[in-house]
Order: sequence, then C-alpha cells, then structure tokens
Amino acid sequence: MVENDKDLTCRVAWIDLDDTLWDFKGNSRVALAGLYDDYNLSRWFPSATDWIECYERHNHALWDQYNHAAITKEYLMAERFKRPLLEAGSELAEEYGRRFDGEYLDRLAECRGLVDGAIDLLGRLHAAGWKTGVLSNGFTEVQHRKIRNSGLEPYIDFVVLSDDIGVNKPDVRLYRHAEKVSGSDAAHCLMVGDNPDTDIVGALAAGWQAVFFAPDGSSHPQAVSISRLSELNL
Ligand SMILES: [Mg+2]
Repeated sequence: MVENDKDLTCRVAWIDLDDTLWDFKGNSRVALAGLYDDYNLSRWFPSATDWIECYERHNHALWDQYNHAAITKEYLMAERFKRPLLEAGSELAEEYGRRFDGEYLDRLAECRGLVDGAIDLLGRLHAAGWKTGVLSNGFTEVQHRKIRNSGLEPYIDFVVLSDDIGVNKPDVRLYRHAEKVSGSDAAHCLMVGDNPDTDIVGALAAGWQAVFFAPDGSSHPQAVSISRLSELNL
C-alpha cells in the first residue's frame, strides 16, 4: 500500500465480477428457470430446481477445466447444456444444447442482481482515492452487458477480461496486462475475488495484495478474508 505522497502511481482495486460484484448465482437461476418454463423442460426434469441443480453440476465441472486452460471456451459452451439434457435422457439434447447457450447468455445479461454492498464498496473505494477495475474470466460481450445493465458502469474505471489477451486468471500474464491497462504496478494493485484457485492464486503470484471474499465464512491463509463486502475497509 502506498504511504508516500510523492508516489503518483495510482492504487487500483481490481474486483472479480461474477459472485463478487454481480450476483451470478441468483441471476443465473432466474435465467435457467426461464428456459425451464419456456421450453417445457418438465418433460425431463420434475422441477426447475432439479434442472438447475443438474445444469450447475455440469457447468461447474466444465468451468473448472476452462479456468485451468484444459478446454476451450467453444467446447464449454457446446457441452454445458447438452450434458444435463443427455443425463436426463432428452432426445433433444443436441438441438437444445446448441440453442440454449446463446439464449441463456442473452437472458443472463439482462439480469441485474448485485451482491449486497457492491455499489457501496465501489463508492467507498473511490472516496478513499482508489481506482476500480473489473478483472474477470468471463466472456467479453456478456460481461460488458452485465456491467452496463446492472448499473455498475459508472463506478468502474477499467475492465480487463481474459478474452482481451486470451489467458485466464490465475495466469500472471493477465495481472501484468491489468497493471499496464491501468498504468499501475504490482505494488499498487489489490485483487478482491471469491475464487481462491483463480482470483487469489493469481493475485499472490503477481505480487498483488489479495482479499478473499467468502460469503460462507471460509478463509484463505495468505489473503485478507471477508464474508461481506461491507467488511472491506481500505
Ligand atoms: Mg467469481
């Protein structure tokens, strides 16, 4: 952290988007429930909850692989709806698998739910002299729409996405790119995020300070750990 008044390098708080600022889990369930109703998925899943549970299980496994660069974005998008439908024995798994991904992302980007305290945190960071940035592994067009539609845009100075340079958190190259975009350096950057394997591992490897946001109350041995955004005071 900078204590020297003569140090003009700006301090930047980089914040993960999904499930740190933007309520991905809640918004995603709204979008998935919409698909369940509109495509009559009760043919294969007894309730929307069953459908959502099955989708989330497959999607989570695929994202794990994507975050570790084991699969491509295209593969993830082609598989994540097909797999739950196949598991449920749907004869339309191929067709719906292709159609649902785009429709889901479209519906998702229109959702506006934010994590409690998100706007307040960004306001407090600016008041304390920090610049703010979003640093996310999400897909470019969708992430920008989420930021715009949810009202976050006026509070964000920089947006850096893995798609910009084709590498994901925790790859240190993405953090170096973020430093360059903001005109800052490792000593002046801080990362706030909910994923210890991507947000936190990458930030620590890049020499940044790290804040682990864990609403379930868990903690990280090398990061400041908070369970609510309101606990973060800088
Ligand atoms: Mg996240």
